Amino acid sequence: MRYAAPATVDEARALLSDNPGSQVFAGATDLVPQMRSGRPAPSVLVDLKRIERLTAVTHEDGQWTIGAATPAADLTRDAVFTAAFPGLSEGAGLIGSDQIQNRSSLGGNLANASPAADSVPALIANAGQAVIATADGTRTVPASEIVTGPGSTSLAEGEFIVEFTLADPPAGTGDAYLRMIPRTEMDIAIVGAAVRVTVDGDSISDAIVVLGAVAPTAVVVPDAAAALVGASVAGGSIDQSALTALAEAASAACDPIDDKRGTIVYRRQVAGVLAKRAAVIAVERAQNGV
Ligand SMILES: Cc1cc2nc3c(=O)[nH]c(=O)nc-3n(C[C@H](O)[C@H](O)[C@H](O)COP(=O)(O)OP(=O)(O)OC[C@H]3O[C@@H](n4cnc5c(N)ncnc54)[C@H](O)[C@@H]3O)c2cc1C
Repeated sequence: MRYAAPATVDEARALLSDNPGSQVFAGATDLVPQMRSGRPAPSVLVDLKRIERLTAVTHEDGQWTIGAATPAADLTRDAVFTAAFPGLSEGAGLIGSDQIQNRSSLGGNLANASPAADSVPALIANAGQAVIATADGTRTVPASEIVTGPGSTSLAEGEFIVEFTLADPPAGTGDAYLRMIPRTEMDIAIVGAAVRVTVDGDSISDAIVVLGAVAPTAVVVPDAAAALVGASVAGGSIDQSALTALAEAASAACDPIDDKRGTIVYRRQVAGVLAKRAAVIAVERAQNGV
């Protein structure tokens, strides 16, 4: 096995095309445990963290660009980013421990394709776009289109994610991410819920609800979002009937596994509860900021 540390996207692209069976990595916090547990080692390990563009975070002309290999800690420590996308910052801040967050990236969290990946629901809720290096250029797709199932992605051999782009949220927008883990720390979500809302006056004008860990991929739940749109938030509290409908739609959208960490019935119920709680926090942030 060979290790390569390209300095540019072009160098990485050439390495991948010249060495079939090679694999990119960023923090290696998923890769190393997987290799240690017996997954076949790639011929060349391509380290993306030495490419400046892949660890850069910029905010220009109403758009954030986040290098796909940027450590999660760089995002959670960025007060301006966190004020713009508190739910996404929250998701990144739940990945493992401080040590893990100093290595782990949004690109790795997404491309590893775990249904329980903590940054993914809020990335999708904020309409994140993934810029992908292809054999001869780049293509941009919604982040929601990368993962196709547990451990599988729509990335072709030799493709890798260069960066994510996120448009500035409209005025009056807030998001939140909550997860349920059976232990108090360092565990994998049995349910994750990201909610983003835009509040206009005394009602919700736009919403998106995304669940994690309750199906093979993150699930966007249009019925749950529809339950919120138009709901009154006068006085800072969401109309109760909207919250009930949101919870029912979130529970109904789940297609979870049944294991020792949580039964199907439990996961469904928790999805409804977390979606409601995340919606309450998102509205509070939309009205008052972080
Ligand atoms: C102790 C521990 C606790 C953890 N806790 C959590 C947790 O609470 N929540 C959670 O979501 N995850 C958790 N994880 C998993 C892991 O830390 C995250 O998934 C992390 O975000 C992966 O990022 P990385 O940069 O380390 O990925 P890597 O390990 O570098 O890569 C992971 C996969 O993605 C691919 N990849 C990486 N970057 C790219 C790219 N730019 N383009 C295309 N493919 C790419 C790699 O080829 C590999 O297949 C934990 C891991 C450990 C070891």
